[in-house]
Amino acid sequence: MRYDKYQAIIIGGGLVGASLALALAKQGKRVALLERQAPALEGLEQDWDARVYAVSPANRRFLESLGAWPDMRRVGTIAAMDVRGDAGGRIDFAARDAGAEALAWIAENRWLLAALWRRLRDSEVELLSGGAQSLQTTPLEARLSLDDGRTLRAELVVGADGANSWVRGQAGLEAAVKSYGQSGVVANFACETAHGGVARQWFLGGDILAWLPMAGNRISMVWSTSDSQALLSLSPEELARRVAEVGGGLLGAFETITPAAAFPLRLIRPEAVVAERVALVGDAAHTVHPLAGQGVNLGFQDAAQLAESLGAAPDCGDWMLLRSHQRRRREAVAAMQLGCDGLYQLFQARLPGLPWLRNAGLSLTGCLKPLKRQLARQAIGY
Ligand SMILES: Cc1cc2nc3c(=O)[nH]c(=O)nc-3n(C[C@H](O)[C@H](O)[C@H](O)COP(=O)(O)OP(=O)(O)OC[C@H]3O[C@@H](n4cnc5c(N)ncnc54)[C@H](O)[C@@H]3O)c2cc1C
Repeated sequence: MRYDKYQAIIIGGGLVGASLALALAKQGKRVALLERQAPALEGLEQDWDARVYAVSPANRRFLESLGAWPDMRRVGTIAAMDVRGDAGGRIDFAARDAGAEALAWIAENRWLLAALWRRLRDSEVELLSGGAQSLQTTPLEARLSLDDGRTLRAELVVGADGANSWVRGQAGLEAAVKSYGQSGVVANFACETAHGGVARQWFLGGDILAWLPMAGNRISMVWSTSDSQALLSLSPEELARRVAEVGGGLLGAFETITPAAAFPLRLIRPEAVVAERVALVGDAAHTVHPLAGQGVNLGFQDAAQLAESLGAAPDCGDWMLLRSHQRRRREAVAAMQLGCDGLYQLFQARLPGLPWLRNAGLSLTGCLKPLKRQLARQAIGY
């Protein structure tokens, strides 16, 4: 234990917790990071990670400011998007519509994590391994009892411990959890034809399939489906054939390069993301449907903005400061949750005439230049 009292203890060293720890350490704060399972930093070149993220330009700048942007040889660029409805509707837009170089970059989870943890190991952040037993707070401080019997004191404890957040439960913050009854099935493929930096998405009248351009001639698939088992039970060859076929063979034949994995899709909305001497960030604070690829982007913005709010604060756990941080994040998070959920519901609904309406809407939007520019700007995060 390096300090008698920390300014912040972060529980969870995933992408969001690790980036927050670095951002606070950069300000000279006394920070500890508790993580059950530190990520591997070596041997990453061996294979590809099926869990990838579309990182927005704002979050790339945030990670670069921390010195934690991964090796560009493993990063794909989304220069354009091509979205197709379930009855002929289509919209496409490009970064150049908004005068930008890229809408987002596709980076593997493992490489992003390793880039952050390499910086953490060289930083002043105290890295603690294991879990915690209990969290107690008073108006003056938080006390965290660790598995190894030690008790740490802090001005603020941050829960960056994922969708099933332990901190959220300890702080007594109830969360509304809505299951989509679907899973996101992810896998990577080498493709025959160059993807040209285009991210493609198909609304398949229930299922949603996305192909994200990775470095080289590879794509990463996210297939949101209520029957994940049907995809997981396919052989690598059958899966490659099926995914290429559903995408209309646009990129020729596929070869599976990472086995398929599935994760449950849930909408999580806690009643609040701050409590006495406690704040939640990342999946602990919210989850969204992955159809817009914004889950981890919201989390990075939680980290960037919380660090900014705490920058000059004499007391990191000050209640007024936490309340104001919560207000600042609420709108962005609610807008993203509502937007993704609304789009998902629109393409799920089976009312007569609705398929025509939603596809016509998609195509009409695609014909209007100012709207396309606006979509591109929104994807970039202006
Ligand atoms: C299999 C899978 C595939 C996914 N694929 C995609 C995808 O393709 N695209 C996408 O946008 N999103 C995807 N997601 C969602 C995405 O991973 C999350 O939105 C993102 O990881 C959230 O980051 P986080 O740092 O908030 O939480 P997490 O990544 O969940 O990190 C939480 C960290 O806290 C640690 N932890 C938890 N509890 C404790 C404790 N009590 N004590 C100490 N440490 C603790 C965990 O070990 C973990 O390291 C996927 C999720 C899963 C599970």
